[in-house]
Amino acid sequence: MSTQMNRDVSCPHCGAAVKTRMYPGIGADESPELREHVLDETLFDWKCPACGYEAELVYPCLYHDKEHNFMVYVVPNGNECEIASVDVSKEFPQLSGMRKRVVISLAGLKEKILIFEAGLDDTAVELTKLALTDVAAQKHGAVVDSCYFCSADEEAERITFSFFLHGESKPVVQGTRMDVYRKSLEIVESIGRPGEEFCAVDAGAAQQILRAYRGED
Ligand SMILES: [Zn+2]
Repeated sequence: MSTQMNRDVSCPHCGAAVKTRMYPGIGADESPELREHVLDETLFDWKCPACGYEAELVYPCLYHDKEHNFMVYVVPNGNECEIASVDVSKEFPQLSGMRKRVVISLAGLKEKILIFEAGLDDTAVELTKLALTDVAAQKHGAVVDSCYFCSADEEAERITFSFFLHGESKPVVQGTRMDVYRKSLEIVESIGRPGEEFCAVDAGAAQQILRAYRGED
């Protein structure tokens, strides 16, 4: 179910109190327009009608998609307390068996949607990303700040990612063979997937799995 609320937000530029609609809960099935706002990264865009000041207004938001069997909780700043306050297994007992993820940004939410809608395993995608990050860093002679999944094409046998290099505002796209993803999936299957709790499946989680796989833990 999607939920919305109206809050007064005071403009950081001119101080005007602006009635603002927020969406603390988004159901992909009944609110396709909100899903679109996530994918075009405008969900948290905020504009002051008085002075025109624009900002990104980020707030906790729970996105769920029954068809693709996943929930993603956007927790700005990765605040663990806020995660703990939602006992999902009690609140949504019908959702056991769903993949539950925590992300800290809208870009992170968008990435999870693209991964799960493509029918991929996000832990294996993170491992693939890890392998490709060094390649991208060497190729461009730059530090990789962040990286997001773009698409997977089974026919073309390609999986592609956007890499944001340090000091550059536009990402570079880097792809690799789907074989790398499949090999990553084998590693995940041999180590084990995340449990029923909300968790972050990110670069840190991928590094942990890699260490466990190599017997370093
Ligand atoms: Zn203003």
